[in-house]
Amino acid sequence: MSRVRRGAYIAVLSTGYAEYDFNGERNSEMDNVTDFFGSLVFDDRVMKEKLSAEVYSSLRKTIDEGLALDKKVANAVADAMKEWAVSKGATHYTHWFQPLTGVTAEKHDSFIEPSADGNVILEFSGKELIKGEPDASSFPSGGIRATFEARGYTAWDPTSYAFIKDKTLCIPTAFCSYGGEALDKKTPLLRSMIALNKQVMRILKLFGNDDVKYVTTSVGAEQEYFLITKEMYEKRPDLLFTGRTLFGAKPPKGQEMDDHYFGVIKPRVAGFMEDLDKELWKLGILAKTEHNEVAPAQHELAPIYTTTNVATDHNQLTMEMMQKIAARHGLVCLLHEKPFEGVNGSGKHNNWSISTDSGQNLFSPGATPYENAQFLLFLCAVIKAVDDYQDLLRISVATAGNDHRLGGDEAPPAVVSMFLGDELSAVLDAIEYETHYEGVKKQKMMLGVDALPRFSRDTTDRNRTSPFAFTGNKFEFRMLGSSNSIACANIMINSAVAESLKIYADELEEADDFKESLKKLLRKTIKEHKRILFNGNGYDDAWTKEATEVRGLSNYKTTPDCMPHLLDEKNIRMLTSHHVFSEVEMRSRCEIMLENYCKQVIIEANTMISMVQTSYIPAIMGYTNELANSINVKRAADVSVSVGYETTTLRRLSSLKDFIAGKCDELKISLEAVREIKDIEKRSCLIRDDLLIHMNELRAMVDEAETLTAKSYWPYPSYADLLFSVK
Ligand code: ADP
Ligand code: MG
Repeated sequence: MSRVRRGAYIAVLSTGYAEYDFNGERNSEMDNVTDFFGSLVFDDRVMKEKLSAEVYSSLRKTIDEGLALDKKVANAVADAMKEWAVSKGATHYTHWFQPLTGVTAEKHDSFIEPSADGNVILEFSGKELIKGEPDASSFPSGGIRATFEARGYTAWDPTSYAFIKDKTLCIPTAFCSYGGEALDKKTPLLRSMIALNKQVMRILKLFGNDDVKYVTTSVGAEQEYFLITKEMYEKRPDLLFTGRTLFGAKPPKGQEMDDHYFGVIKPRVAGFMEDLDKELWKLGILAKTEHNEVAPAQHELAPIYTTTNVATDHNQLTMEMMQKIAARHGLVCLLHEKPFEGVNGSGKHNNWSISTDSGQNLFSPGATPYENAQFLLFLCAVIKAVDDYQDLLRISVATAGNDHRLGGDEAPPAVVSMFLGDELSAVLDAIEYETHYEGVKKQKMMLGVDALPRFSRDTTDRNRTSPFAFTGNKFEFRMLGSSNSIACANIMINSAVAESLKIYADELEEADDFKESLKKLLRKTIKEHKRILFNGNGYDDAWTKEATEVRGLSNYKTTPDCMPHLLDEKNIRMLTSHHVFSEVEMRSRCEIMLENYCKQVIIEANTMISMVQTSYIPAIMGYTNELANSINVKRAADVSVSVGYETTTLRRLSSLKDFIAGKCDELKISLEAVREIKDIEKRSCLIRDDLLIHMNELRAMVDEAETLTAKSYWPYPSYADLLFSVK
């Protein structure tokens, strides 16, 4: 399946994409994308070429069906990998993994081993391929690893291809403690894929699909980001230390004109995108669409979807490459969820579906009523999952940065709901009330015992406000922040859907009359879970009110609000029963996530204090001195000074300066109070209820002062300088 897709994609590339540069000249380098696509990946093509038929087929079995790899095969693979990597100029290898810090980690070892004659040989064994032992004591473990047992180990994930980056062979790996607890994001993701596969297979058997060997989930992650010039970036300590601006008055022009969305891409940005695409293609990443987003300086990249754990690795790599390539162009790529107040933040859209080993998408409405019955069951499983585990979905995207989007006034809201579109909603109504379903093509359908409705694929979704939307043959989860790893969201989606399917399979396997039981089960799901379905405008305040007060949906605005619910009994029961997490792992993750939240906001508060004390207050004093001088000049000329521009501005700025100094002191006191609290949950709550309030108030005062102070006195680039810096 993936090979078919890739072939088709290369055809698209070589005929239509970037063949001409921006002057209309033929772009010779881009001519032969097919030659370099995946050139830095030890992918299926390379494996076939470099491995013996026997080793290849055994490795393929491991990749596709999860069978264990024997030592002989591992050695042969390691040897071929090393030969290939060295031929591409690599000198080192690393186990590449995704600890809970949110970034990727690597520890480079060189291939060299001393040889008897005093020279070196290049060596890489199966053992080194399969298992690594980074000295990982400083990765967060939430108390799982006591310090005396600080070493964890990394284990090869053969389902994600090895690749070369910075002359280093990178081997995608999972990261665990010696007790076997997961210390990373990949391990639970792989476990959740196994859990989902198990339950989907039970359901497929019930529908008589006996030739399906396994199913996988696929994800296409659309990634938003901002680009600003390096020059401006380096002048802003807040961007340097926290990734977002902590101060900044609104620019005269923001995003109100919507003229940036899909607008003409500026040459410098186009140069960046072209370079980025090229580097990503070398890494086998199917970067497909690049365009401008709504906010000025905001852009988006969408890849073609692929297997979830590969998509997760690819998204991490994409974020890393974005930053590297930007630097080459004198730019900085901001991946923070909310780099600029008053301007849309950046998110990620996680497009998710399940397909069989032969490439059948289980969320494609089928051509026959029978296929549709199966489709409706999978659809209902997702509806039930999203409703039952709203909290886990919200938790999976919770960070200090994303709180500014989800809890704020922008897309999507913190309330999780699901969009199905009119046609599918009508089908569900018909099932619930056992009425006629009238499709868009005016074909009337009776919901008889043996025939469920047949309908066409609805591709009309353009409801961009929905957090979880059905978009024809996949679901689009839109709550992820731009810097989130997509692993967390997919762990929760996979597990929650596995749980729905388990409940269905338990019931249907025992049923005397399969069709009747199926109908009952669908109707029951729709009745019990339709509260999660909402096709309207998710930004509307009226919706939040209805969602929370009438429908009883949860509305967790912040990370401290939602994170402790990870440990609710129902969540522990569900996730442990599918072996996605152990209870210990869940407790440690909850602690780490809250710790990350606290650390992030505390760094922000510290940065604010330093900027105010060392730059803003002195700047305001400088300008107020000038105003005072000007007033003295007036006085000397016998002009009345009791009113006039200088006097009113001086009065306001002087008092603002004192307010700012006072607020800064309050912020310091609040910070002390936060530091004194040892309990991480309580600490995060005090940050939410006190520290962040002071930070916002301080910001508002400084932003007002910015609008009154001469630009030549203002110490940092303005929003206009930042947002419109890339010409
Ligand atoms: P848009 O959201 O702009 O309408 P598309 O729906 O075409 O664009 O695709 C958005 C993303 O969804 C892309 O990354 C695409 O590869 C991915 N996608 C398309 N089909 C599927 C699928 N069946 N499963 C998972 N992702 C998919
Ligand atoms: Mg989309």
